[in-house]
Amino acid sequence: MPIIRNVTCPVCGTFCDDIELNIKNNTITDVQNACAMGEAKFLSYADPHHRNLKPLIRKDGELVEVSMSEAIKKSAQILADASYPLLYGWSCTSCEAVRVGVELAEEVGGVIDNTTSVCHGPSMLSIQDVGISTCTLGQVRHRADLIIYWGSDPYSAHPRHMERYTAFSDGRFEPSELRRYVSRLRGVVGKKKLERASDLALMEEFSVSPITGRQVPPTLETEKERKLIVIDVRRTRSAEFADYFIQVEPNRDYELLQAMRMLVKNEELEVDEAAGVQVDVLEKIVDMMIGCKFGVLFFGVGLTMSTGKLRNIDAALALTRDLNFRTKFVIMPMRGHFNVTGANTVFLWQTGYPFAIDFSQGYPTYNPGETSSVDILSRDESDSALVIASDPVANFPKNAARNLVKNPLIVIDPENSATALMADVVLPSTFVGIEAEGTAYRMDSVPLPLKRVVNPSKNCLSDEKILLRILREVRRLKKKTRRT
Ligand code: SF4
Repeated sequence: MPIIRNVTCPVCGTFCDDIELNIKNNTITDVQNACAMGEAKFLSYADPHHRNLKPLIRKDGELVEVSMSEAIKKSAQILADASYPLLYGWSCTSCEAVRVGVELAEEVGGVIDNTTSVCHGPSMLSIQDVGISTCTLGQVRHRADLIIYWGSDPYSAHPRHMERYTAFSDGRFEPSELRRYVSRLRGVVGKKKLERASDLALMEEFSVSPITGRQVPPTLETEKERKLIVIDVRRTRSAEFADYFIQVEPNRDYELLQAMRMLVKNEELEVDEAAGVQVDVLEKIVDMMIGCKFGVLFFGVGLTMSTGKLRNIDAALALTRDLNFRTKFVIMPMRGHFNVTGANTVFLWQTGYPFAIDFSQGYPTYNPGETSSVDILSRDESDSALVIASDPVANFPKNAARNLVKNPLIVIDPENSATALMADVVLPSTFVGIEAEGTAYRMDSVPLPLKRVVNPSKNCLSDEKILLRILREVRRLKKKTRRT
């Protein structure tokens, strides 16, 4: 039974590249090293219950099976006839497919946008405004002695992030903090047993205090190993692993960030608390940030999508910049889809802009809020759409989703999503990283190869090949129109 090693996992932005797969008769039978999310994708990608396996065109209200050539011709006709088409998705496909997508958007004079516009769009805008002090995840693994997750729950959304790159990874210069976590866990289990025993004996005066108080544990300030701090509006699963958890009041992240900036600059806060956090606690946390050798702040959509949006990220980037006058500190967005960073990168090198790019004037223009997908759809401006490797019907606002499906809609996706069920043309593609090879960018902008480990299903082509054929057909149709 062949074992394929060093496979990259095409699920989340952690983009683990140490997966091992057992293959038997062109089927993945066993997965090693992946988390539950990765394992589920590798083992169930071929499940026909949620797979698009045939090209479909809607005729008389019903999706009927057609040949791939007919579906491609129909798609090209829709795009060639449109005056303002929207091409959306791109975060779960290869960079090679994204490159062709940009060419297609330019050819049809449409808008091309990726899922960044509904997750880390504010981060992109802030990075352009303020700049970013960042590094690779390899540097974090080997050097970071203070790790902060803000508005992000890696335990649930990036399950191997802490194990591979941060608190529980063994770096060359920084050992894992797993030992401390395990001893803390033993203490917590002991306390819980004690509480249970006191409950049973109705000895209320014997109760044990909560696991995390409002004070910074005194040992934390002197501890030599890596430290993990989680800042969030609620106690997430990741917070359970942290050395210290700071609960910020909802939508007051900006206030907390600015208070921290003041403390970093040795300015005095004339209040007792900021955003629900006691100033004396905040002072100790900021002292730890200044005192670390290499700190890193990972931030998620809890920060980008709460009140303040890009201003929160402006403040976080500025905090990192301020900290670099005192120590070494970096910051990194926790990107969700495995190639959302790749989509931004390819858009950038092709057009100069990372998302929401409008080609309707014959050259790329960019104005998020006006040229981003949800805004275009909410104003009902586009007259057709191509959605690739994404499911906007399931997660866009109702009004935008309604306007998306009322015009001709093409879907290129290996999965039978809610958007595919509403489409006029469905083009079944292969899963990149399983049935097709390609390139994708990890969340720290490091490009890694995606392997083809099994042969693709019959009737399915790679996203890149489908897009190339649509592009060729659009050009042929346009040439024909110019001649007549
Ligand atoms: Fe795949 Fe993400 Fe899990 Fe790594 S953490 S195995 S990339 S789903």
